[in-house]
Amino acid sequence: MSLQKGIDQLKPQFRGYILILGDAGYEEARKVYNGMIDKRPGAIARCLNVADVMAAVRAAREQDVLVAIRGGGHNAGGLGICDGGLVIDLSLMRSAHVNPASRTVRAEGGCTGGDVDHATHAFGMATPTGTIATTGIAGLTLGGGIGHLSRPYGLTIDNLLAVDVVLADGSFVIASADEHQDLFWAVQGGGGNFGVVTSFLFRLQPVKMVNAGPTFWPLDQTPQVMKAYREFIAQAPEDVSGFFAFLTVPPVPLFPAHLHNQKMCAVIWCSTAEPARADQLTKAIRSVGKPALDHVGPMPFPALQSLFDPLYPPGLQWYWRADFFKEISDASIAVHQKFAEALPTGHSTMHMYPINGAVHHVGNADTAFSYRDVLLAGVIVGVDPDPKNKEKITDWTKSYYDAIHPHSSGGAYVNFMMEEGQERVKASFRGNYDRLATIKKKYDPSNFFRVNQNIKPA
Ligand SMILES: Cc1cc2nc3c(=O)[nH]c(=O)nc-3n(C[C@H](O)[C@H](O)[C@H](O)COP(=O)(O)OP(=O)(O)OC[C@H]3O[C@@H](n4cnc5c(N)ncnc54)[C@H](O)[C@@H]3O)c2cc1C
Repeated sequence: MSLQKGIDQLKPQFRGYILILGDAGYEEARKVYNGMIDKRPGAIARCLNVADVMAAVRAAREQDVLVAIRGGGHNAGGLGICDGGLVIDLSLMRSAHVNPASRTVRAEGGCTGGDVDHATHAFGMATPTGTIATTGIAGLTLGGGIGHLSRPYGLTIDNLLAVDVVLADGSFVIASADEHQDLFWAVQGGGGNFGVVTSFLFRLQPVKMVNAGPTFWPLDQTPQVMKAYREFIAQAPEDVSGFFAFLTVPPVPLFPAHLHNQKMCAVIWCSTAEPARADQLTKAIRSVGKPALDHVGPMPFPALQSLFDPLYPPGLQWYWRADFFKEISDASIAVHQKFAEALPTGHSTMHMYPINGAVHHVGNADTAFSYRDVLLAGVIVGVDPDPKNKEKITDWTKSYYDAIHPHSSGGAYVNFMMEEGQERVKASFRGNYDRLATIKKKYDPSNFFRVNQNIKPA
C-alpha cells in the first residue's frame, strides 16, 4: 500500500482539495460529529464532483489504500473516517435540486437532512429523513432512514427512486427499480458497502406544516405513560406519529424554568394531519396522568427537524447502543424506569421510534432493511460535552443495553450501532444477509469498501 503514490496519481485529475497532516484545514476536516472518535487519516480527498470521486476510488484501488467514505460525518462509530488511508469526503457536495413537476429532489451525497428540507420546503414538500437536521443524508438513507415521517410515508429508502454510484472499480452506474436492481435493493439498508453514492433521487411528499412538539411527564409516571404509548402507537392512524423518550429538560428559555434539569419521560409528536384532527387524535394520550408540559402546535416541518440541533452541537462525546422491539412488555418497563432514573448526564437520552404505519407496507425482504415487522427502534445514547465523563456515559449505556436487550427482537438498526462485531451486523440484517453478501461479491469482491457495518463478500 502506498498512500503517497495514490495522492500523486490523484492530484492531476482532482478538482477538489487533498488534505494531509500539517495542511491548514486537515485538523478540522478529520473531526466527525462524535467527539469520542479521534482518527487520523493519511489523506482526506474533499471531492467537488463525481469525476473527483471516480478518480479518488481509482487511485486508492490501484495503490491499495484503505478507503473510508464520508457523507455527513454523523456515524456513531466514526465509520465516515479511518486511521491511515484515504477519506473520500463528499461534504462539499451539498446541492439539492427540486423538480416540482415530477415531485422529486436530487440530493448530492454530502447533503445534510437540513439541506434537503430547506430545498424542498420552498415547494411545500418534504421527503422523510431523520430527527436532527445536521445528520448526513447519505449514511442515513443507506442504513434505512427512520424519522418523524416514517409512519405516514415510510422509511427514507421507501422514498428513494434512484442512486448514482461509483463502484469499487471506479466505474459509474445508476441503480433504480429499472437498472442494476440488485444494487438498488442492496443500498436500501445495506449501508456504504457497495460503492460511493454521489447522489440520491427521492420522491417528495406534500408536507409543509406539521402539528408537533413535546409532551413531558415526571419519571414516576413512566409505567402509565409507556403503557398508554404502546397501545396508542400500535393502532394510531398513519398521519400521527410520536417517538418516546427519556430525557432531562434542557435549561433553555424554550422550557419553563421550574422544569429545567428535571428527568422526564416524553413523547415528541409529529402529525401531518390538519391541526384540529391531529389534536383530536392525540388528546387522550397527551392528557394521561399529569403531564408536566404539553407544547404541541402547528410548525413548519424544517423547524421540527432542526428543533434539537442547538442542544446537540458537533463534538460532544457519544456512546450508542440499539435494539428493535416488537413490544414494550410489562417486564421491560421496570428496566426502562430504573435506567431513566439513572440518566448519567443532561444530554443522555433513550429514544424509541415507531417502525409501523407505512413502514409495514413494505416487506422484510423487499429492501435490505430487514426489521419491518417490529413496533419500535430503540436507541440508548450516553452523551456529554466533557471527555472526562466518557466512562460514566459508556457504563450507563452498556448496562442499560445489557438489561434491556433480552426484551428485544435481537438485531438493531445499523445506523444506531457503533462497531460491535460481525455477529451483531448479521443479526441486524438477519434473513437478508446472505443475499447482501452475494451482491457484495458481484460489485465489490475484494471488500474495498469495508469501513462500514461490513458485509463480507460471499
Ligand atoms: C445526533 C444524531 C441523530 C440521528 N438521528 C437519526 C434519525 O433520526 N434517524 C436515523 O435514521 N438515523 C439517525 N441518526 C443516525 C444516522 O443515520 C447515522 O449516524 C448515519 O450513519 C449518518 O450518516 P452520515 O452521512 O452523517 O455519516 P458518515 O459518518 O459520513 O457515514 C456513515 C456511514 O455511511 C457511509 N457513507 C457516507 N456517505 C456515503 C456515500 N455518499 N456513499 C456510500 N457510503 C457512504 C460511510 O462510509 C459510513 O459507513 C442520527 C445520528 C446522530 C449523530
